[in-house]
Amino acid sequence: MKMMALTEQAISLIRKSGNIVALSGAGISTEAGIPDFRGPGGMWEEPGLMDQLSVSGFRNSPETFYRTSVRLFSNIARAEPTPAHRLLVRLEQLNKLKAVITQNIDGLHTAAGSTKVFELHGTYRTGHCPQCGTEFEMAEFYAEIERGNLRVPLCTACAVPIKPDIVLFEDLLPVNAWNGAVQAATTCDLMLIFGSSLMVYPAAELPMIAFENGARLVIVNLGETSYDNMAAVAIKSRLGDFAKTALATFME
Ligand code: ZN
Repeated sequence: MKMMALTEQAISLIRKSGNIVALSGAGISTEAGIPDFRGPGGMWEEPGLMDQLSVSGFRNSPETFYRTSVRLFSNIARAEPTPAHRLLVRLEQLNKLKAVITQNIDGLHTAAGSTKVFELHGTYRTGHCPQCGTEFEMAEFYAEIERGNLRVPLCTACAVPIKPDIVLFEDLLPVNAWNGAVQAATTCDLMLIFGSSLMVYPAAELPMIAFENGARLVIVNLGETSYDNMAAVAIKSRLGDFAKTALATFME
């Protein structure tokens, strides 16, 4: 089927649905200039990186951890939400979309204005003290390190290194975010899957949970996914093209 016909079909499904949940992956943010860390040739293939960005790596050398994470994530701080992020905000304003589930750590859904976001891999925007639990905004620390002052961010009360709220290698998924995501997937009538190849588990289980509970799936992703056959509509194209058309429709 032609791209335009598929887009129309997806828009019509969105129109008919009142309990939409979105699941977003790296593809929604690559269009904001954030690299796909896990994709082919992705940064995780760089030797030593997984060790440095693991729980034990953080414990062994917070300094190396911060040097590496600033190098990887510095462009996240400057990234702006894309039309796809804004589309999801608009659908929430229209009271159609109930939650966004994301595998991304860039915080762009929240920055765009989505209010109910389950961040399965955490967020780089905040951090907390492993000892007393105090939360910190991380942007200023990263900016400082980027300016060349490699100083490990320390808790103002305990003086121990602050750990960013991203899920590290060896870390467990944040249980509240995961439970919220499962709950949302179970009850939705439509799941929009944006920019995820659905390869990373357990996030990739969520479309199955939605499908088995009667939801339709709309997938927009550059590459194929293992759920394309199950989807009501699967659009293999740039997410931005679809999102701009859909956003224009729902702004009317
Ligand atoms: Zn503390």
